[in-house]
Amino acid sequence: PGFDPEYPARAVVDLTAIRDNVVALRRAATGAALMAVVKGDAYGHGLLPVARAALAGGATWLGAAQVGEALRLRQGGVTPADARVLTWLYAPGAPLEEVLLADIDLGVAAPWGLDAAADAARSAGRPARVHLKVDTGLGRNGITLDDLPAVLRRAAELRGLVEITGVMSHFACADEPGHPSIDAQAKAFEDTVTAVERAGFAPEVRHLANSAATLTRPDTAWDLVRTGIAMYGLTPVPQISVPSTYGLRPAMTVEARLATVKRVPAGSGVSYGLHYTTSQDTTLGVIPLGYADGIPRHASGGALGPGGPVLVGGGVDDVASREAGPGAARVVRVAGRVCMDQIMVDLGPYASEQAGDVVTLFGQSDGVEHAGAPNAEDWAQAAGTISYEIVTRVAARMPRVYV
Ligand code: PLP
Repeated sequence: PGFDPEYPARAVVDLTAIRDNVVALRRAATGAALMAVVKGDAYGHGLLPVARAALAGGATWLGAAQVGEALRLRQGGVTPADARVLTWLYAPGAPLEEVLLADIDLGVAAPWGLDAAADAARSAGRPARVHLKVDTGLGRNGITLDDLPAVLRRAAELRGLVEITGVMSHFACADEPGHPSIDAQAKAFEDTVTAVERAGFAPEVRHLANSAATLTRPDTAWDLVRTGIAMYGLTPVPQISVPSTYGLRPAMTVEARLATVKRVPAGSGVSYGLHYTTSQDTTLGVIPLGYADGIPRHASGGALGPGGPVLVGGGVDDVASREAGPGAARVVRVAGRVCMDQIMVDLGPYASEQAGDVVTLFGQSDGVEHAGAPNAEDWAQAAGTISYEIVTRVAARMPRVYV
């Protein structure tokens, strides 16, 4: 499919990659079920298309942080027969009755949540399926180990209204293999499961592992793994190349058409603040994407940093020949400040690119990993962030094209 004439850029999402990545992750999870984590509009890839692709790959659960996203899955036609859905982040006053009526499981991360779940169960006329979300060391949302005994006593009083369907926790440092907190949290989780079972509950699913743990610590998979980033084909562990090590493929490609190509003399300043100065007579390319589209301003280049990488001059198939001479495929970098709607690249003195040519910020829309082609991780490095943020921030206004 071509570009939207009103919006000369697009995020191409390869749903076959999502499906295949789920198959690969299920293999890594050695027998555990898989929850596809689709919060944040499926990390920017699109909630419903990703959910369906993940289910086609064998996911049986869908995880959304926010209640609204969980409800949208059901409203979008994901039935209880298609998938279990879990939501775990809300504040007092959330429409939990609606959640229960939509047959959605509820993470409970604080003592108040148990009573809120019971109230919702009373008004919905059906019990709440609750996953106790325990803070085993992340220091984020979750029942503290100190509060756990009281929560279990309260859960016993609320039997009939509240079913303890799951016990869950989340790692702080699974992306740093060998970090001592990983074993400490794994042990605390095991103790938590024991405490819950000793209190007379028989949770159906005990779950702890995110992508990094699923890949590097499959011994922590328990009954269910909750994978996000790796399902999108991006590495959760910066030292490990996900594609080459685990056979996962990045699902998102962001590409744009050059709006302007122009010759400028040596010594020209580029973009707000003039933080990039051309070192020779050269050619500037203007890419009609900026921070309003989710391009991080921290990926500015010149005196401000390395600049985000952009593949120009012929598409990914030619990357290998980028040394071949003027006009061949090559990676250039953002020159100067990222603006709200545009970024500039220095195409070099011999550029043959024209306005309208397609350039690629990250990803490979042909689904093949090409050596040297920029990926979301490269953008994360240029911007001082993580690939999660790069893809999740791709703005709602950017057209998504599903292939
Ligand atoms: N489980 C929970 C509770 C999360 O908050 C997240 C996302 O941060 C995930 C699982 C998925 O993590 P990842 O994308 O690293 O696989």
